[in-house]
Amino acid sequence: MESRAVRPYEAIRRKRDGLALEPDELRAFFEGYAGGEVGDYQMAAFLMAVHYRGLSGAELDALVDVMLHSGVVLSRGTAPPARVDKHSTGGVGDKVSLVLAPLVASLGVAVPMMSGRGLGHTGGTADKLEAIPGFRASLDPRAFQAQIDRVGCALAVQTDEIAPLDRRLYALRDVTATVESIPLIAASIMSKKLAEGLHALVLDVKQGNGAFIPEPDRARELARTMIRIGAAHGVEVLARLTAMDRPLGWAVGNALEVEESIFALRGEGPPDLLEVTLVLAADMLVLGGVAADERSARAAAERALRDGRALEKLRAVIDAQGGNAAVVDDPAILPQAPVRTTVVAGAAGRVTAMDVRAIGAAAVELGVGRSKLDDVIDPAVGFHITVKPGDEVAAGEPLATVFASNAGTAATAARRLLGAIRISSRTEPAASPLPLIGDRIAAHHPADAAAADAAAAASAT
Ligand code: URA
Repeated sequence: MESRAVRPYEAIRRKRDGLALEPDELRAFFEGYAGGEVGDYQMAAFLMAVHYRGLSGAELDALVDVMLHSGVVLSRGTAPPARVDKHSTGGVGDKVSLVLAPLVASLGVAVPMMSGRGLGHTGGTADKLEAIPGFRASLDPRAFQAQIDRVGCALAVQTDEIAPLDRRLYALRDVTATVESIPLIAASIMSKKLAEGLHALVLDVKQGNGAFIPEPDRARELARTMIRIGAAHGVEVLARLTAMDRPLGWAVGNALEVEESIFALRGEGPPDLLEVTLVLAADMLVLGGVAADERSARAAAERALRDGRALEKLRAVIDAQGGNAAVVDDPAILPQAPVRTTVVAGAAGRVTAMDVRAIGAAAVELGVGRSKLDDVIDPAVGFHITVKPGDEVAAGEPLATVFASNAGTAATAARRLLGAIRISSRTEPAASPLPLIGDRIAAHHPADAAAADAAAAASAT
């Protein structure tokens, strides 16, 4: 079909002024960007206009379609096992994928998980995995598919073949303050997830000050927008809202998060990490058709953690992707930071709030993530933060440990951490933390689907 072209200037002006583009016009604009006729500067201006003006439902559908078909779309096949994945909208200390994917795969659901690198203040699963010596996160679509067939799980970074347009836009949004837009996040996540050839998808939509979309109402809107896109492509999507008003688990940092994930796969991880993982695992097992209901699915997942099946699946995945699989027995093989500094409470009181964005930004500055595209990350550095909102602390009690490459960066990070963990007197009422597991949002029947449609249309304007 011949695309209807629109001059880039005209597309930007119309979006800036709050006018909708015809789907074909929007498609032509993004195809022009993919083909090099639309410049980065023009796309950056357009993305900022979308940030303020949103996209109509028809524009969003056209955008997902261009992004999805900018690369290879894997086939979901017809024979069992079902292919089910999970995607998080991004957080700090969010290492759920590392535990969840092998856990669910160990129970007979295929998990073709493609993930990104760090974005803004949030960490990326691919960066974490690459902390494992030798691990290859980059798999071409054929190798990815072969590994799903053989091992039942692959943990790969989105390569040039899969939704390449998303990769370029993602990088541009990261440096132009245009990440926090519901339609742009929805299109980004759903284009790469639909390319995996899934039967079903579970979304972990973060809410709270460390989420890209912090407000619970808008987080729900984001969930409904993605559910609608999934339904339009025949993929059942279920969303859980989870808390990101504190980091998830204790570890923030690439090797540190791999280590914590290995402990979690032995059933010994932080309780919040285990809880989020088990809730999402139960959803994936039910959607994948290997469990009849959430309760029996959760019991099966708990058994697989206890009897070592989940850990063995991680070993098989690491081995298949060239990594040193002995790490599952001895996490000390992971890169180790030479400097450790303990951060202590200056006075007794209660942790009333945590500025998760500031913690994420401090981690990026320490070397956990990138501030510029070509920054090199340090897999060994990061934090162990052992307090949560609501905890009481004594003066001088340890709140966190900083793992750094030198004393200077350790001291800066320690200062930033102290500034991000608010401790008030015990008598001051604490703001109640968000529930760890919030709403469950699904579009199972027509009434829900219609509501999701209406919410998506409203969010687009
Ligand atoms: N995760 C993604 O994959 N894309 C976004 O835009 C935000 C989070």
